[in-house]
Amino acid sequence: MNVKITVLTAACALALAACGDKSPPPAPAAPATTAPATTAPAETAPAETTPAASTTASAPVGAGGAAVVNDCATEIEGNDAMQFNVKSITVPASCSEFKITLKHTGKMPVAAMGHNVVITTLDDMKKVAADGMGAGIDNDYVKPGDDRVIAHTKMIGGGETTSVSFDVSKIKGDGPYEFFCSFPGHSAIMKGTIAVE
Ligand code: ZN
Repeated sequence: MNVKITVLTAACALALAACGDKSPPPAPAAPATTAPATTAPAETAPAETTPAASTTASAPVGAGGAAVVNDCATEIEGNDAMQFNVKSITVPASCSEFKITLKHTGKMPVAAMGHNVVITTLDDMKKVAADGMGAGIDNDYVKPGDDRVIAHTKMIGGGETTSVSFDVSKIKGDGPYEFFCSFPGHSAIMKGTIAVE
């Protein structure tokens, strides 16, 4: 009788010991939280500005990037590197009307590297460019009916040419006046002065 109890106790003790040795079951591995791939829209990297690349310009340019003016007209160029080939346009005071022809010497389409020429006062330039951005490409990135805009060409792509003529008296007031491209982001680089002398 006593022996039987002892054996049972021993068995129990062994069982307990076995139980105690049992290491807790491993925690279920946390399901790998596959974070959804962040499909952030790829920022369109701004075209690298290579100021020295203007050597490819075919139109004659005067000293200091001055546009060459003949018969109350000038031709300027825009390229795929987001540059105009001139920094300034001087309109002869003897002209009553002046014509600016813009030639896009690049190959990129208008939607990617469009250029135009917009003339405003220096004070209005940033605001006109910002409003133009909102107006969209269908409006040549110029707000329709914007009376701060003295003149502007249409927006063109690589290989295209456009022009605009305007009354010189419009830039004889309180300047200074600027010409620039209103394609989003371009006016920071594609700009220059325009003045009557
Ligand atoms: Zn442009």
